[in-house]
Formats: sequence, structure tokens, C-alpha cells
Amino acid sequence: PSGAEPATKIVINLERLQQLPAEKVGPLARYAATIQSQRGDYNGKVLSIRTEDLRSLAIIYDMTPGELTEQLIDWGVLPPEARPAKDDI
Ligand code: C2E
Ligand code: C2E
Repeated sequence: PSGAEPATKIVINLERLQQLPAEKVGPLARYAATIQSQRGDYNGKVLSIRTEDLRSLAIIYDMTPGELTEQLIDWGVLPPEARPAKDDI
């Protein structure tokens, strides 16, 4: 087991996302901006996205959903609580 399990609830920290260099977070930032635009929701400090979206983003980043979850926690874009507890899986 790699210990990298996909997040079950994806709540993106938009303020943190804006602080990170575009070469790292470009695709994720564009994805989040598109969802905000589709919802007409520009006011939040956080953005909840679909579990399905994490899978699409993982393909874009050439990672597994679990690896991308770890990366996003590492960047501070997801809170550590996004990492599923071992008992949950
Ligand atoms: P849609 O998928 O046809 O969803 C229509 C409306 O159903 C949404 O309008 C929203 O009010 C509600 N809805 C659908 N799924 C959920 C959900 O899981 N939770 C909640 N609370 N409401 C839900 P809204 O928000 O104005 O979004 C408009 C369109 O923008 C959506 O049409 C979809 O095509 C796209 N969209 C919005 N958010 C996301 C997202 O997180 N991921 C993806 N892939 N598309 C999204
Ligand atoms: P949530 O609104 O609490 O929804 C939790 C889960 O219930 C969703 O997880 C999805 O599996 C299911 N669900 C809720 N509403 C719908 C719906 O209209 N159609 C379908 N097919 N399933 C629904 P999921 O997809 O992982 O989304 C996680 C969170 O992302 C949602 O939590 C919501 O906060 C946000 N979200 C997702 N799609 C939309 C959207 O289109 N519009 C808005 N405003 N928020 C969305």
C-alpha cells in the first residue's frame, strides 16, 4: 500500500491556490476558475468540487487521484483532514 488514498471531500482553499506559482497550479487554477464561472460563485474562500473532478485533474497531472490528493495537501490547497483515515478505507 502506498498510503496515498484519494480525498473523499474536496474543498479547495482558493486563497492558498492564488499564492502558488502558476507553473505548479496552472491547470488546477484554471479548472477551479471554470467551475466558479459555471456556478456564478466568486465570493467564496473555498470551493467544493466533485469527486469526479479529482479524477479528471489526476489525469491532467499524470498522477493517481491518491497521489494528487497528497500533492494538494502538501501545497496547502487541501486541508490535511482531506486525507482519508486508514479506518475509512
Ligand atoms: P449541472 O451539472 O446540470 O447541475 C445543475 C445544477 O444542479 C447546479 O447548478 C447546482 O445547483 C445543482 N447541483 C448539481 N450537482 C450538485 C451537487 O453535487 N451539489 C449541489 N449542492 N448542487 C448540485 P450550478 O451550481 O449553477 O452549476 C451549473 C453547471 O456548472 C452544472 O450543471 C455543471 O455543468 C457545472 N458545474 C458546476 N459545478 C461543477 C463542479 O464542481 N464540477 C463540474 N464538473 N461541473 C460543475
Ligand atoms: P454536496 O452538495 O454536499 O453533495 C454531496 C454528494 O451528493 C455529491 O458529491 C454527489 O455525489 C451527490 N449529489 C448532490 N447533488 C447532486 C446532483 O444534483 N446530482 C448528482 N448526480 N449527484 C448529486 P460530489 O459530486 O463529489 O460533489 C461534492 C461537492 O461539490 C458537493 O457537495 C457540492 O458542494 C459541490 N458541487 C458539486 N457539483 C456542484 C454543482 O454543480 N454546483 C454546486 N453549486 N456545487 C457543486
